[in-house]
Amino acid sequence: MSITIRMIGTGSAFAKNYFNNNALVTCGDYTLMIDFGITAPLAMHRLNVPLDVIDGVLVTHLHADHIGGFEELMLRLKFDYNKKPALFIEERLVAPLWNYSLRGGLEFGAGGRQTLDDFFRVVPFRAGVPQTVAPGVRLELLPTRHFPDMPSFAVVINDNLFYSGDTVFDPKLIQAAQDRGCEYLLHECQLEGQGLFHATLDELLTLPETVQRKIWLMHYGDNMEQFADKAGAMTFMRQHETYAFPPSVEAK
Ligand SMILES: [Zn+2]
Ligand SMILES: [Zn+2]
Repeated sequence: MSITIRMIGTGSAFAKNYFNNNALVTCGDYTLMIDFGITAPLAMHRLNVPLDVIDGVLVTHLHADHIGGFEELMLRLKFDYNKKPALFIEERLVAPLWNYSLRGGLEFGAGGRQTLDDFFRVVPFRAGVPQTVAPGVRLELLPTRHFPDMPSFAVVINDNLFYSGDTVFDPKLIQAAQDRGCEYLLHECQLEGQGLFHATLDELLTLPETVQRKIWLMHYGDNMEQFADKAGAMTFMRQHETYAFPPSVEAK
């Protein structure tokens, strides 16, 4: 089954020319949102995509450029659309997402105290244990190294497409994705400076060209265009464009 991805944003955490790096994934009839950051509600509005297309949301980690739009998403799905999507989340993130990021704004509902389960059908994942979440849609979370001791995850879809989430340069992770058969590696990319919490373009350029050909770059800074022809055999994904994997399948 082909996978279609619309990048509703491709920006790094503080990018201003680009929306937060969040992706709308279509796999058969199923629509999966990967992350939903601060700018995601506006990005979806600009794209004229109603929120109720979302069947499930996957959280890679708890930085605001990945979950900052959740309050609006949850309130609008519940009250505008009466929809309760699935939430795919590594088990260690469930309590912190609610207690530290969402509870202050969402706990007090008209019908009494609310919990995460009032808004989502929560589907906990354990890293490295894949789950089939819909017919033909299999997800696996892999731990990434982003901030020390902070749980953060990449996602593998159908052993075919790897989406890095946020991570430092980690050749073993990239190899693990290829070992699973992934042909498409969507990878975050810091354009300049030292890669303390992210993978730099210079680091990614040390990968063999055969691997670079599989890499699609995302989560970049506002000056991406200055690097457009400096990415070796890798390809910068463009905000709001729709990509089909394999690319030969015509994008909708
Ligand atoms: Zn980020
Ligand atoms: Zn992050």
